[in-house]
Amino acid sequence: MPRTSQPELRTRRAVVTGGAGFVGSHLCEELLRRGAEVVCLDNFLTGSPANVAHLMDNPGFRLVRCDVTDFMHVPGDVDLVLHFASPASPSDYLRLPLHTLKVGAIGTWHALGLAKEKGARFVLASTSEVYGDPQVHPQPEDYWGHVNPVGPRGVYDEGKRYGEALATAYRGTEGVDAAIVRIFNTFGPRMRPDDGRAIPTFISQALAGEPVTVTGDGLQTRSVCYIDDLVEGVLAMAACDHPGPVNIGNPSERSILEIAKDVIAATGSTSTIVHIDRPVDDPKVRRPDTTLARELLGWEARVPWKEGLARTIAWWSQRVQQPA
Ligand code: NAD
Ligand code: UDP
Repeated sequence: MPRTSQPELRTRRAVVTGGAGFVGSHLCEELLRRGAEVVCLDNFLTGSPANVAHLMDNPGFRLVRCDVTDFMHVPGDVDLVLHFASPASPSDYLRLPLHTLKVGAIGTWHALGLAKEKGARFVLASTSEVYGDPQVHPQPEDYWGHVNPVGPRGVYDEGKRYGEALATAYRGTEGVDAAIVRIFNTFGPRMRPDDGRAIPTFISQALAGEPVTVTGDGLQTRSVCYIDDLVEGVLAMAACDHPGPVNIGNPSERSILEIAKDVIAATGSTSTIVHIDRPVDDPKVRRPDTTLARELLGWEARVPWKEGLARTIAWWSQRVQQPA
């Protein structure tokens, strides 16, 4: 039977690795809002202290600069570890291939070790990229994927697949209450304008009146989820004891060309669209089957694409007027 309400989060003190990144900063904010203390661990490789600057006055919040591939020590009790540290944008992981593999492997070992030491619930931020260029559509959790390990995206995809195997082994052999969420493309405030992902790139280009760069014919699809929905889904998973993997994403699928046109319209821009080369191994389609998230967590995405886009553009415009 599907749940009608989400499991209640009882976390008292959480560690969020990658907490100064796009997704991590929203998780820190929501955990604090729900009354938990938060220790945010980040080396600011692709994130920034500016993303959590507004949380620094909160006595329940602590920001620690640390590379999770070196060592991870957190004094005191911890009942939740959210492991989100990793480059996530294709242009970031393509310029940081070895670090991406290292944080997916060694960083995940350390984060699982911390969860074991503390007896904490552990949630791994995995990704729809574990499905690669999928041959099953939409993608259910029991699809094993179609990944090229020696292609450029392999460093990210295989790092996450390794992390999933590690979390599963820690659960089986070490008794860690480890879980996996497979996150599909998410967007919203605090993405870096220059992170290379489609939506921040299109918004920056449209606001600057520059040509909007669509790869290939733009008919490849993505299913994009607004950040507030994603945070709710991740915290619902944190609050239960299911191992997953669970897909967290918005199943409403559209082409990249349609996304580009919507961005141009929503910004009131005069930008034109230019077509550039498709990256190697760029997935042709992507849409989560979210049946499990609905039935297990009572969760589904609620913010419509155009509303999420309007909120993101509003944040962007304000940021351009008042740089951090
Ligand atoms: P992001 O780049 O904004 O955040 C990643 C954070 O991890 C950054 O703050 C970075 O400085 C930090 N980091 C990287 N290596 C580190 C290390 N060794 N030690 C400590 N901190 C380190 O990316 P994001 O979009 O917020 O993604 C966060 C997580 O969610 C990633 O694990 C990513 O794989 C996953 N994810 C995101 C999406 C998405 O659409 N945003 C989709 C699927 C999965
Ligand atoms: N993309 C694009 N123009 C850009 C950046 C990306 O058309 O300037 C395309 C990219 O080739 C892919 C889609 O948009 O087909 C989503 O790319 P993104 O990097 O946002 O996420 P991912 O490939 O990880 O799903």
